[in-house]
Amino acid sequence: MNDAIASDPIALHRGLLTLDTHIDIPWPTGPDPFLEGPRRVDLPKMHRGGLAAGCFAAYVPQAARTPENEAAAFERAIGMLQAIRAMGRSENGIVARVAVTAEEIAACKREGVLAIVPAVENGFAMGHDLSRLARFRGLGARYLTLTHNGHNALADSCNPRTDLGNALTEHGGLSPLGRAAIAELNRLGMLIDVAHVSRDSMLQAADLSRTPIVSTHSCIRTLCDNARNMDDAQLDALRDVGGIIQITAVAAFLKQDGKPDTVTVADFADHVDYAVRRIGIEHVGISSDFDGGGGFTGWHNAGESANITLELLRRGYDRQEIAALWGGNFLRVLRIAEERAG
Ligand SMILES: [Zn+2]
Repeated sequence: MNDAIASDPIALHRGLLTLDTHIDIPWPTGPDPFLEGPRRVDLPKMHRGGLAAGCFAAYVPQAARTPENEAAAFERAIGMLQAIRAMGRSENGIVARVAVTAEEIAACKREGVLAIVPAVENGFAMGHDLSRLARFRGLGARYLTLTHNGHNALADSCNPRTDLGNALTEHGGLSPLGRAAIAELNRLGMLIDVAHVSRDSMLQAADLSRTPIVSTHSCIRTLCDNARNMDDAQLDALRDVGGIIQITAVAAFLKQDGKPDTVTVADFADHVDYAVRRIGIEHVGISSDFDGGGGFTGWHNAGESANITLELLRRGYDRQEIAALWGGNFLRVLRIAEERAG
């Protein structure tokens, strides 16, 4: 570790391209993101917390798979992507810009501009129409989370919804439509996000995708037995395809029976350490799931993001390693998707 840099860890933190790969936005309406407000993420908190970039998700809840619900889900995703794009502006002394490539994200950091990276959470938003994926990409979306809670037409979820009539498995992993969606996402340069999918869906997606898959927000099953977390074989599969797991700040995924007030930055870092030891630091990253369930003591909101860097420094990670965890690895995977698109 460079002692001169580590002597000012806050300066070190603020120099990093820090990217949080999963943040939810309010819908249908919410407070002005340019004003400090009640949410865990707004642009003043990002600025204050030295969080340079965020993937903002157009999240669509799973509902019964009727044509009407699928049409409504698509319209909602489009509306949310438009709202995310509208965050790319200048107001109250803060400048934010929509950044849809790795280079655009890096340019935002160089220019001191907050980077807004759009994403879509839940393949239910495309219903049965693959052409809708290009519409999402056209609005800047860089990843699609294949499912949320509940199976959809693309894949089985790790959390079946009995209220929607889900059995434990429906497709045995990916459906034929889900396989076609992965090919189309590859073609469009969008990442395949396997947070929320079943174990079989995840392993099949790893095999099938021409680009490394990502879990944008999950944790380690060995440390906390939750269906949303990845076991060792899944971690190994991620490593084998060059993918990444973005350890997330959800208390219940970090510690058995964990609550926001009983989980700390140390618990979060334990999951990072485990993944780094198991599959190598180039396959691990950081996410919050803020405003979608994330937040704990020490990282309640984007304004406290430096606490993650401080804990990683305490554990002996150097600047280069922390930069990889905080965004370098995710940008690498985005670049590969860009290179292999088309
Ligand atoms: Zn989620």
